[in-house]
Amino acid sequence: MNNKIFDLIVIGGGPGGYVAAIRASQLGMSVALVEDKHLGGICLNWGCIPTKALLRASEIKHMLDNVEEFGFSVSNIKMDIKKIKLRFLKVSLKLIKIQINLKKLLFKLKMAQLLNLLKILL
Ligand SMILES: Cc1cc2nc3c(=O)[nH]c(=O)nc-3n(C[C@H](O)[C@H](O)[C@H](O)COP(=O)(O)OP(=O)(O)OC[C@H]3O[C@@H](n4cnc5c(N)ncnc54)[C@H](O)[C@@H]3O)c2cc1C
Repeated sequence: MNNKIFDLIVIGGGPGGYVAAIRASQLGMSVALVEDKHLGGICLNWGCIPTKALLRASEIKHMLDNVEEFGFSVSNIKMDIKKIKLRFLKVSLKLIKIQINLKKLLFKLKMAQLLNLLKILL
């Protein structure tokens, strides 16, 4: 790996890390962003967005279980867990596009994204 000196090295490419790194770069610092798993962190790849697809499915199930309270009657409700998982995967795929755009932005800002740099630092 090339020897390079940065003004700032941010460890962790989640919302905390990439926002800090982008802002520091905008303020003129040379910045490295280190991420050892998935750019976007828990929020983009698991927590904030993909889990909401599962929450929505459970919300709809709850509504269907209680429709009579609102004056509706439905019968023969079936839950297809494979389809629910498929929708979850579709949402996750959309997020990969966001991740690609994030990478493009980091490159535009001439920011290096160095994988596993932490191991080198230690
Ligand atoms: C199920 C769930 C649902 C959530 N829903 C919401 C929501 O709806 N709205 C909301 O605002 N927040 C939500 N959150 C919280 C949100 O995900 C976190 O607040 C946010 O991800 C924190 O960002 P972060 O950058 O601090 O950490 P993280 O997102 O955890 O990012 C840290 C990054 O650092 C990397 N890393 C760790 N150690 C190293 C290392 N040694 N070297 C290199 N890289 C490393 C990790 O791989 C990770 O990518 C949710 C969280 C969960 C778990």
